[in-house]
Amino acid sequence: MTLQKKIYEGKAKIIFSGPKENTLIQYFKDDATAFNAKKIKVLEGKGEINNLISEHLMKILSNNQIPNHFIKKISNREQLIHQCKIIPLEVVVRNIAAGSICKRLGIKEGKKFKDPIIEFYYKNDKLNDPIVNNCHIISFGWSNEKELLKINKISLKVNKVLKRKFEEISISLIDFKLEFGRKTSDNSLVVADEISPDSCRLCDVNSHEKFDKDIFRYDKGNLVDAYKNLSIRLGIMK
Ligand code: UDP
Repeated sequence: MTLQKKIYEGKAKIIFSGPKENTLIQYFKDDATAFNAKKIKVLEGKGEINNLISEHLMKILSNNQIPNHFIKKISNREQLIHQCKIIPLEVVVRNIAAGSICKRLGIKEGKKFKDPIIEFYYKNDKLNDPIVNNCHIISFGWSNEKELLKINKISLKVNKVLKRKFEEISISLIDFKLEFGRKTSDNSLVVADEISPDSCRLCDVNSHEKFDKDIFRYDKGNLVDAYKNLSIRLGIMK
């Protein structure tokens, strides 16, 4: 494990200072949390698998010219990343109805949307990450009109690329959450944080077997085994 200085500890990851200016180290913990950390458990092996999956998915973004914070994986649980100023928004892209949108709008789970739906949530645990719109985001200075347009465009491109990748292995990308940051080196906008089954909903197209954190949220089986199966399907684990 790194001997760098701890900068921030979140629910599933720790951020350490990096070896060079404008870099950080992102360390993946085994902690699983749900319902705004009301449910917490240590699931041995989760951190390593999420590091692996997030590396794989961020590399897919890079191969598709989608800017992101990933530089390289440096150990089983660590990756070197570009230092960013995180925009305090969770950007959710939905292809199929699940989770909070069903409760909030009374929509039936499993409804396929004609076009992907983008939602913004204000990252604030004390407030339970409330949903917000462009007016809130611009008025409170979290982003601006031009940057929000870019965030929308990038989010839709990420969706297109990842949805296609998962379809190739008969997995449906139901929804996912992205975070964005501005690189401290040049202020450019990048996809930050992680993209892993902790922040996506994924299921087998035919059997509807789940590969995501809903297994933990609703006690539907062994989460680490499901993440391992997903890694095997993605061809990144034997
Ligand atoms: N999500 C996330 N972090 C959050 C909230 C949501 O990664 O703090 C992800 C979640 O895993 C799902 C998508 O964003 O893939 C949409 O989540 P939703 O709004 O349905 O909320 P949830 O049902 O997770 O409370």
